[in-house]
Amino acid sequence: MLFYSTRNTNNKKTVSQAILQGLAEDGGLFVPEYFPQIDWKSFSNSLSYPEFAAKILADYFDGDELAPQLTAICQNAFNFALPLEKLNDNTSVLELFHGPTLSFKDFGARFLAECMTRLSKERKTIIIVATSGDTGSAVASAFHNKQNVNVIVMFPDGQISKRQEKQITCWGDNILAVAVNGTFDDCQKIVKQSFTDSWWTEQAHLSSANSINIARLLPQLTYYAYTSWLSYQCNGEKTNFIIPTGNVGNSTAAYWAKAMGFPIGDIVLATNANRVILDYINTSKFDPKTSIATIANAMDVGNPSNFERLSFLHDNDWEKFKTNITSFSVSDDEIRSTIKEVKNEFNYIMCPHTATGYFARNQLDDKKWVIVATAAPSKFETIIEPIINEELIVAPQLQELLDKPSHLVKANPEMKEIQNAFINNK
Ligand SMILES: *Cc1c(COP(=O)(O)O)cnc(C)c1O
Repeated sequence: MLFYSTRNTNNKKTVSQAILQGLAEDGGLFVPEYFPQIDWKSFSNSLSYPEFAAKILADYFDGDELAPQLTAICQNAFNFALPLEKLNDNTSVLELFHGPTLSFKDFGARFLAECMTRLSKERKTIIIVATSGDTGSAVASAFHNKQNVNVIVMFPDGQISKRQEKQITCWGDNILAVAVNGTFDDCQKIVKQSFTDSWWTEQAHLSSANSINIARLLPQLTYYAYTSWLSYQCNGEKTNFIIPTGNVGNSTAAYWAKAMGFPIGDIVLATNANRVILDYINTSKFDPKTSIATIANAMDVGNPSNFERLSFLHDNDWEKFKTNITSFSVSDDEIRSTIKEVKNEFNYIMCPHTATGYFARNQLDDKKWVIVATAAPSKFETIIEPIINEELIVAPQLQELLDKPSHLVKANPEMKEIQNAFINNK
């Protein structure tokens, strides 16, 4: 199996090459040249989640140097639970936040780290990421103490929550946390500039860990496939998913699982006030905007980078796209009232991102829906506690990180300052 660019299907790479490269040379995103059709009905129902994941990802790694290690990669990456919690007869919540940094980003970041470390045996890799929240912590945690990999995580100083900051700065060792005196966009600009700056490439192979990397997308399709397979065994029905969406990575993965033949019915994208997907469905125009700040901040994306993959999957055809994809845009007030309603009705506490999914559920028909819970509520205590008038219980993984000392440097959004911080940290 090879992967090609969404902008040039003649530009083909092995999965390892695509992982190391991140973005294709032509600026497109790597996608598989076809979707293997999986005979899931023949699977033994004693498969563990990592075994299941390795089995359905095998075709994507076929012929690649990582193929013999895929089972070990999945065992190491997916070492936490993914419970499906039932709220009522036709509404369940798929909790993807039981990894070390309490968001679904742990699935992708840990899988990427397992792949990247194995591909960096001969030479050093530097991973540079800009984060406005969950990506930075998931990547830092996944790569901490991995051989031959250095990670630089930049975040806008003072603009992320204390708990989010602690999850980035608590690592030390090969993880350099930089609090940048600027905005998220300033951080992102430095990441982009680094890839054309020879100073970095003289140090080591430079790579990124954001959700354009194929090694973050592939692991995400496994939980949609797994959940639909398990549900089908119970009730013989397809599973319908509602997915809180920002950069469209997680939802693209769900469509990929469906394209592989898994018993998945409808897929609904819930966004916050950043509504470019809904506008595209309504108007046929994809019109990226600067992002609007909301209380579901991990979804504050005005120009979703994985849109290109989701559009490509639908032959870049608006009619096909809008036939298959439904989207809801949810305001901050609606998020707040949803958190309250779900707490009162089910005694269940949702994070602000997941709440967009429940809000969408209420607008939909009463067939069975699975809402994807993307983060644990205890990461967002400053938003949730005033709404429910109750102190949140801190998840044990989070408490452990909060108790560690912080290691961070402060810098202005200047390339030279980031480079100096990197040299001083080595
Ligand atoms: C990243 C993130 C999202 C958005 O996922 P995308 O793949 O970017 O669409 C939603 N919720 C949480 C908590 C996140 O961290």
